[in-house]
Amino acid sequence: MTKAWELFKDEPDVIAARVGGVLKDLSYEVAEGDDVEGVLIGSADGRDILRHSTAHVLAQAVQDLYPDAKLGIGPPVENGFYYDFDVETPFVPDDLVKIETRMRKIIKENQKFSRRVTNDDDARIELADEPYKLELIGLKGNAGEAAEGASAEVGAGELTIYDNLDRNGEIAWKDLCRGPHLPTTKRIPAFKLMRSAAAYWRGNEKNKQLQRIYGTAWETKEALDEHLFRIEEAERRDHRKLGRDLDLFSFPDEIGSGLAVFHPKGGVLKRVMEDYVRQRHIEEGFEYVGTPHITKDQLFYTSGHLPYYADTMFPPMEFEGSNYMVKPMNCPMHNLIYRSRGRSYRELPLRLFEFGSVYRYEKSGVVHGLTRVRGLTQDDSHSYVTAEQAPGEIKHLLNFVLGLLKDFGLDDFYLELSTRDDSKPDKFVGSDEDWAIATKVLEDVCIESGLDLVPDPGGAAFYGPKVSVQCRDAIGRTWQMSTIQYDFNQPARFELEYNGADGQKHQPVMIHSAKFGSLERFFGVLVEHYAGAFPPWLAPVQVQAIPVADTFADYLYDVAAKMKAAGLRVEVDDSDDRMQKKIRNAQLQKVPFMLIAGADDVEAGAVSFRYRDGRQDNGVPIDEAIARVAQAVADRVQV
Ligand SMILES: [Zn+2]
Ligand SMILES: [Zn+2]
Repeated sequence: MTKAWELFKDEPDVIAARVGGVLKDLSYEVAEGDDVEGVLIGSADGRDILRHSTAHVLAQAVQDLYPDAKLGIGPPVENGFYYDFDVETPFVPDDLVKIETRMRKIIKENQKFSRRVTNDDDARIELADEPYKLELIGLKGNAGEAAEGASAEVGAGELTIYDNLDRNGEIAWKDLCRGPHLPTTKRIPAFKLMRSAAAYWRGNEKNKQLQRIYGTAWETKEALDEHLFRIEEAERRDHRKLGRDLDLFSFPDEIGSGLAVFHPKGGVLKRVMEDYVRQRHIEEGFEYVGTPHITKDQLFYTSGHLPYYADTMFPPMEFEGSNYMVKPMNCPMHNLIYRSRGRSYRELPLRLFEFGSVYRYEKSGVVHGLTRVRGLTQDDSHSYVTAEQAPGEIKHLLNFVLGLLKDFGLDDFYLELSTRDDSKPDKFVGSDEDWAIATKVLEDVCIESGLDLVPDPGGAAFYGPKVSVQCRDAIGRTWQMSTIQYDFNQPARFELEYNGADGQKHQPVMIHSAKFGSLERFFGVLVEHYAGAFPPWLAPVQVQAIPVADTFADYLYDVAAKMKAAGLRVEVDDSDDRMQKKIRNAQLQKVPFMLIAGADDVEAGAVSFRYRDGRQDNGVPIDEAIARVAQAVADRVQV
């Protein structure tokens, strides 16, 4: 028998071991023939272990400073960790500074995380002062009952306590936990406490409110700094903040949570997006249709959305003896358009498209700006094709989607293929054979595209597999954008058919696709991707005209009239502000171009042409200034 750490003593980045696939402390005794692998601190598992171990140090520091604090749980979470405490008074930012200082001391002391097996009875005596830990002992092995993250404390195997041993081998602190942990506290390279917030014990509002401290920990100081920079950037780009600052949209309380109104400037961007996508659909062979917002509920029983989707739909309205629903999707209505008359194979692919306003019940806790709303507009399209045409149509749609994303400045993407969870066949409708064919068709097209493909088993909708395009934005965050979905189910449920070349009736395949997905969400992502500084073709105001003094305003109104005639969006700032203030305002509004005019310009029939970054060309003839802006708009470039 050897300790795992002996195997990795020359690899300082290994902080735990995976033995036969199970994560273990480096103190684990490895047996002859065990399959042992080192866990690197920067790997996904390594980061979890680092973050959870840092949570221990946090709890130790809190109990050092606040001896009456009782421990809740302390799991790793995405990009960090938290620990819950029952304390008399909530923590304030100054407390976090003190706690951080104490944590650094514990880290410097290089305390050892030491595992000790115990049993329920002994643990109850040892932890008599920790009522929440006692509760967890009672929950051990009952994962369904356990609190979020509680399985990190007790798990299903042996009950263990981890002691933090000081230099003399004395127990400095201990916690009920199943591990694994870092070998010592000194192996925490970089951490930071972020904030504190109230949280109910075990996530249940009937329980006592505890105080949760959030922190983050990383394998290097650089990785921590990058993370903090990303958070700062994400805050700076937050579309809810920019939506206010740039006067794009709002969510009036009087209307309700998750229901946006677009202001005139946001309305411009929304209309440019709509015009673009409508035109592109027509170019790609789609026909523009329209359907109502509400329908009798029977339609959704026919489609199979009810009962599957009932909890994401708004409750029915009853009148004239029927239940009416606001629609959560448009597909069933397009099926009725398809079915409104007999169809021939010569009409296929038949492609229908509309801006469908749909409503989905999202809990108020998950509603988030424009990216998670209750009312949304889908650029929803359905292609009805023969089975033979399906691969070609999917390829066609994928090219369409990728071209659209590139035009909007999103060009870093990969594909995700969502398939059925074979262990839960009752969650999905349709035969095994249909699923296999549909999945194969999508997979082949994805592979042929040459893009990275990530499998998403179990992620399919109940009626068929889908491909989604995942985009990385300017700060590396991933957003799910467009989707293409293969559906053999709804055509059967709606008894859709076409007359084939053989004179027989056949069932078409339906392919759902949404390019923006949700217009609102895409809008929100664009705001964050560009941090509000849109390329000229998307900018609500493309040109701000600024007179050096009042007397030159009329001249600029003439220039503006010419630009408007050329289809450009221009405003003249004739306010009482001084010129420098006007330039500053245009910068804050992130307007791509400024045209400034004084006496020399008027004389020469020219303007000073100023870019967003402050570059300025003086004495540019009016026609050339207009041509420069028009070119940037036509090329859809960023400036
Ligand atoms: Zn632990
Ligand atoms: Zn659909």
